[in-house]
Amino acid sequence: MKLNEKIKEYRKIFNLSQEQLAEKLSVSRQVITKWENDEGLPEIGNLKAISKIMGISIDYLLDETKKLEYPLKRRCIRCNIEMIENFDIKVEGAGYGIKLTQHGLFKDNLGKIQCAVCPECGYMETYIEDTNKVKKLLKK
Ligand SMILES: [Zn+2]
Repeated sequence: MKLNEKIKEYRKIFNLSQEQLAEKLSVSRQVITKWENDEGLPEIGNLKAISKIMGISIDYLLDETKKLEYPLKRRCIRCNIEMIENFDIKVEGAGYGIKLTQHGLFKDNLGKIQCAVCPECGYMETYIEDTNKVKKLLKK
């Protein structure tokens, strides 16, 4: 995927209008339109800023062999800010976290449930770190 497509797709993933992204980068909206239409390339400074805003590396942005990937850092769906990840959920009175398992008794443990918290509004999102076991279920 080319750089212009990635900029456009990531802008949508983060629910930013061209105006909003332009504002964050201190450029005009027309500049964003140009980049997205592949009529011009961002300068290195802007590329760095895009990489920071979207939480993706410059290497990845520039590598056309790479497909669209969701950014590594989870963002709050309300505040659109980076969430703090890797909290454990503990059941009070028990020393263990909650595990995700397939439906039924004695089924495979699919992974430890972890939690991310938005430092701004406290919104919590749960996820499992290693999705390989879940992916394998898809293939069955
Ligand atoms: Zn939030």
